[in-house]
Amino acid sequence: MAKKYVYYFGGKKAEGKADMKYLLGGKGANLAEMVNIGLPVPAGFTISTEVCTHYYTNKKKYPKELKAQVLLAMKKVEKELGAKFGEPKNPLLVSIRSGARASMPGMMDTILNLGLNDTTVEGVIKKTNNPRFAYDSYRRFVAMYGDVVLGLKPQTKDEHDPFEVILDEKKHEKGVTLDTELTAHDLKDLIVKFKAAIKEKTGHSFPENPFDQLWGAIGAVFSSWMNERAIAYRKMYAIPEAWGTAVNIQAMVFGNMGEDSGTGVAFTRDAATGENYFYGEFLMNAQGEDVVAGTRTPLPISKLAEAKPVIYKQLDKYRKVLEKHYKDMQDIEFTIQQNKLYMLQCRVGNRTAFAAIKIAVDMVSEKLIDEKEALRRIEPDQLNQLLRPIFDKVEKDNAVKAGNLLAIGLNAGPGAACGRVVFNAPDAEEWKKRGEKVILVRVETSPEDIKGMDASEGILTARGGMTSHAALVARQMGKVCVAGCSVLNIDYTTRTMTVKNKVVKEGDYISIDGTTGEVILGQVNTKPSEVLQVLVEKTLAPKEAPVYQLYEKIMKWADKYRTLGVRTNADQPDQAEIAVSFGAEGIGLCRTEHMFFGEGKIGPMREMILADTLEDRKKALANLLPLQRLDFEGIFEAMNGKPVTIRTIDPPLHEFVPHEEKAQRELAAQMGISYEKVHQRVQSLHEFNPMLGFRGCRLGIIYPEITEMQARAIFEAAVNVQKRGIPVKPEIMIPLVGHVKELKMQEEIVRHVASEVIAENKVKLNYLVGTMIEIPRGAITADEIAGVAEFFSFGTNDLTQTTLGVSRDDAGRFLMPYVEKEIYAKDPFEAIDQSGVGVLMQIAVEKGRVTRPDIKLGICGEHGGDPSSIEFCHTIGLDYVSCSPYRVPIARVAAARAALKFGSQQKKKSTKVIKRK
Ligand code: PEP
Ligand code: MG
Repeated sequence: MAKKYVYYFGGKKAEGKADMKYLLGGKGANLAEMVNIGLPVPAGFTISTEVCTHYYTNKKKYPKELKAQVLLAMKKVEKELGAKFGEPKNPLLVSIRSGARASMPGMMDTILNLGLNDTTVEGVIKKTNNPRFAYDSYRRFVAMYGDVVLGLKPQTKDEHDPFEVILDEKKHEKGVTLDTELTAHDLKDLIVKFKAAIKEKTGHSFPENPFDQLWGAIGAVFSSWMNERAIAYRKMYAIPEAWGTAVNIQAMVFGNMGEDSGTGVAFTRDAATGENYFYGEFLMNAQGEDVVAGTRTPLPISKLAEAKPVIYKQLDKYRKVLEKHYKDMQDIEFTIQQNKLYMLQCRVGNRTAFAAIKIAVDMVSEKLIDEKEALRRIEPDQLNQLLRPIFDKVEKDNAVKAGNLLAIGLNAGPGAACGRVVFNAPDAEEWKKRGEKVILVRVETSPEDIKGMDASEGILTARGGMTSHAALVARQMGKVCVAGCSVLNIDYTTRTMTVKNKVVKEGDYISIDGTTGEVILGQVNTKPSEVLQVLVEKTLAPKEAPVYQLYEKIMKWADKYRTLGVRTNADQPDQAEIAVSFGAEGIGLCRTEHMFFGEGKIGPMREMILADTLEDRKKALANLLPLQRLDFEGIFEAMNGKPVTIRTIDPPLHEFVPHEEKAQRELAAQMGISYEKVHQRVQSLHEFNPMLGFRGCRLGIIYPEITEMQARAIFEAAVNVQKRGIPVKPEIMIPLVGHVKELKMQEEIVRHVASEVIAENKVKLNYLVGTMIEIPRGAITADEIAGVAEFFSFGTNDLTQTTLGVSRDDAGRFLMPYVEKEIYAKDPFEAIDQSGVGVLMQIAVEKGRVTRPDIKLGICGEHGGDPSSIEFCHTIGLDYVSCSPYRVPIARVAAARAALKFGSQQKKKSTKVIKRK
């Protein structure tokens, strides 16, 4: 039997169906499906994508069976319509449209009214008794055919469309401004002129034979698969070229046949808010292009209920039929021809993040889908829409339209913030005290900016990537952050930032969108999130908060299906509390260094760093001990028995000391030593490459007394809190371990201090000692390290930095272009580089489990909050992910989706078979 290339649809039965998109394209498959479920669709047929593939692999030739199949299908359409293609008295007119598997809006070509010529147009006039309509359709067809099939469409911005030029001349000659003011006679004359232009420009006459027109149009649609726009679009959305497009040939129906005709587009629910009401617009006596062109203002679909109640009722019924059938919100196109409704297209409708969530949850209540399907439909990052403050969309769009978009940087901390620009952290604190809302603008931030960052609504930096200090601290604090915005020219001395000739001064208002990376000049109003008002601020009751109720449902479903634990990165009790209210099951990383910038701590810390002798250092550490102990007590209390992983000091010491003369002089005075001494000691801490320098466990190895003090503060705090009847689960984590001996040395100190504190207090205390796996040697020798470590936590920020040899703080400048050039599919500091860093993680997991089968495995790098990385962590069998508080809900959903996709964790199995992206 000959291979089937053509699929008919029409009447009551179609040869295709919805799940044949690969063969019929999205449009063709859905037209067929609508026919099968009894909706009125103008009859037609689809030429399959296989013909497109054949066309391109056979020097633009069609399979030999195609012609006969097309003719046969056309006969069926003629029969259904009771008209004949090319017949002068009762002509059938058709449209020719592309239809790829994935929607590629506007990328390929369309031809309408095909089949018209000098004789068939007379037939249309007789049938409709409307010469103006017939000639208008004809002139549109000739122009479209000339542009699309005969190649007269302008190729550059400076060229003019020859048909537009002729049309304009005609209007000028007649002294009219609108096309609709031209008479049938004018239009007839235009057709003659259009044809003459075709002859002149191509050397060929316009084809009068409808079958020549048909094959010309089919060829043009297949050719448009390879036009520049389509190629660029495919590249952008990773649509394979091999998919090809189908071609849909369908009987024309006309919305411009008079006041009893019309056309419209609609969504079965509101695509912006997700509300379950019919949303769309229509125009009477118009064609699809009139709706799109914007020359006439379409009316809301609710007005159709008034204008054409019977049609509206029918359309509303189809809306329900479609949703019930497809179990998703649909985007539809319809035409009314002389009071008869036709459906021309349906497809799954695009929607905002908020609408996606609302529709998924509502459809579970309506029993259209189940909870698992709802989770599959919610992209975890979409939850940001429920959690973070957002800009009023209209206001933001207006600001952008008014030319106030200054720049676009990395969307490092989602949400919307608006405030006055300050250029340093102390100013941020001071302005905040005066009641001002500020945005802290820095070239980059460092730990000493912490308090200023906390005082700001948002943070904007010119350098640094997704794991730069600014980005990760902002996320942990729940601050909006745009990082690595390299077009900003920041001048601290004049307190200005210049962007493309615009100068923004201290005190000027800017608005930053950490979800999109946009930086906007001026004030754009923000809206707070309902979820936060209920969970954190406790200013709203759940029953009065519909958005919160959506959130709660999703979280309940996520927890039902996920197998990965979700912890948080937090180093302040308030952060920990927020994270717990978002569902964190523990702290996966408490960075103790941030605590040293708290009240009264930086002084003794600096004394400790600048001390010349062991004795002086111990004295300073003794002052720090009670302060650190208090910090840890706060954390243990907030976590109320949930595990708390506390990391010993990690950053290079120079980050804690002042670098400017004024501050150094102040410090010297405080310490009662000379400025020169302070200056000289700060100089001596300088390193060429501090990220690979004197940091991490190296600090505790050279200065064991620091680890001793921190361990004591942790255990004493744990004992104190336990004595208050609050359970504690401390886990001490040693950073930057590359050699088991490093860990062993630090572990001995920790265990020694623990036994002392336990003995002194005569209590029982359970605790773990483990390490971060964050440099390649640590991963490769994980079997040795697991001999000492009771847990591993992957520090994928440093592991990415050291595996790729890319500085996490300087990568902003070249990583974006790297991603654009597709060297990496995504920023590797945002999504785990699975075939590089990911392999090291797998090695560490396998080796670690060989030595210690029950070793606890987690991740605390920023990737722990990234959905694709969470999926990867699930597949390699980690026990938990840890992320910043505001990402906890996102991680819960991502973990559930991973479990639904891959089944429960494959713990202890060999991970070698796992396919990596
Ligand atoms: C890491 O390296 O992934 C990590 C969590 O530690 P930090 O970002 O503090 O270096
Ligand atoms: Mg690290």
